[in-house]
Amino acid sequence: MNNTKKPNILFIMSDDHAAHAMSCYGSRINETPNIDRIANEGMRFDNCFCTNSICSPSRAAILTGKYNHLNGVKTIDDELDGRQMTFPKLLQADGYQTAMIGKWHLGHGGDADPTGFDYWTAVRGQGEYHDPIFLDAEGAKQIKGYATDIITDITLDWIDKRDKDRPFMVMCHHKAPHRPWQPDEKHAHLYEDVDIPEPETFYDDYKTRSQAAVEARMRIDRDMKDEVDLKGLPPEGLSAIEEKKWKYQRYIKDYLRCVASIDDNVGRVLDYLDKEGLAEDTIIIYTSDQGFFLGDHGWYDKRFMYEESLRMPFVVRYPRAIQPGTVATAMALNVDFPVTFLDFAGVDIPEDMQGHSLRPIFAGEEPEGWRTSMYYRYWMHLDKYHNVYSHYGLRTDRYKLIYYYAEALGSSGSIEEKRQPEWELFDLEEDPYEINNVYGNPNYAERVSALKQELRRLQLDVLDEPVEEID
Ligand code: CA
Repeated sequence: MNNTKKPNILFIMSDDHAAHAMSCYGSRINETPNIDRIANEGMRFDNCFCTNSICSPSRAAILTGKYNHLNGVKTIDDELDGRQMTFPKLLQADGYQTAMIGKWHLGHGGDADPTGFDYWTAVRGQGEYHDPIFLDAEGAKQIKGYATDIITDITLDWIDKRDKDRPFMVMCHHKAPHRPWQPDEKHAHLYEDVDIPEPETFYDDYKTRSQAAVEARMRIDRDMKDEVDLKGLPPEGLSAIEEKKWKYQRYIKDYLRCVASIDDNVGRVLDYLDKEGLAEDTIIIYTSDQGFFLGDHGWYDKRFMYEESLRMPFVVRYPRAIQPGTVATAMALNVDFPVTFLDFAGVDIPEDMQGHSLRPIFAGEEPEGWRTSMYYRYWMHLDKYHNVYSHYGLRTDRYKLIYYYAEALGSSGSIEEKRQPEWELFDLEEDPYEINNVYGNPNYAERVSALKQELRRLQLDVLDEPVEEID
């Protein structure tokens, strides 16, 4: 085997880290010098989207290269049936050493345990920040320390002890910065004396928008839990607006402190690759399973097809194939990741994987006929905490059409209670913050009809089935 042709793959993924909390994506609220280093020495994807903005479904899409109606993980209450084909299995069969370290969140025990890995150790469920419990093939054990540091330690230790004659693929998947945003000691006082800027849509009143946006229980001022999310009560005597501002500062500072620890640990990984002479031969990726609302629209959390939640950060460095400091605007999806890994490894790509290889994009060439629209579906309907309606839609470079079909259709974790279906249309060029739903605007009538046709085409293309639509 000619190892120089098979790159190592170091796949770092965090949980709920929005692109707009990274300086390489123009963050107004924090700095991420180490993640930026990957972008500066490699490529930043500006239009990378998830196909369902929620943890387990995005992870399942990445492992299988398939949309959630095909891989069986439609909501966070579903487990991945590990008997199906995944990219780690294919790499392992090809001679790669494979490992999965950190957040798994696709179930534990029986067929839900990670498969296709020479080694795996996963935090239990959502995982804990401090002294987390890890599960592996042997059982459970608690490790003292902070989750982000420990997951990095185990990753570097595993790489260190690998068989140096074979390539490796390791998934270093962080729990952070997922709720409940508990920073480590080192970053506990970061931002203490500063005010973090509020987002443009912090005071969104949801006028013109669907009832789905109005009814969602993700509002910073109303839905955050004092103890879990805010670690205390607001001072007495504040006006409603002052209280909302106070809660935002509490929330966003802890979130960014968790991000700061991730960034430090990405730096440790980069330094290790340099020290070991592995930088040239290793594809290193930093991404997150979806985006997140950082006070945008007055919210925390994700789920909606709106930009902040739909967009995944994706930066990649691989000196053998990527020019430093490049930016890709081509539309990439989470289902593309496994296909890209297999392509670089020279492994045959199963025909039923639905993504496309990003390899030509890495090389700076957008292939002819590359997708100009993408399909999205959030299956969970009215889960008891966030109350978001089920919906699907498409995004093109300029428009986003969303259909809230607003019923459970048997998807797990949902409430079997229909709501009135509704449409939303956003013209992202005129309205990048998606404040102005123009679905009913006669000037867009022709556009709506063309987009509905495209939505139907995409749905058929990914083998999903439309719900009966209303106008
Ligand atoms: Ca997540």
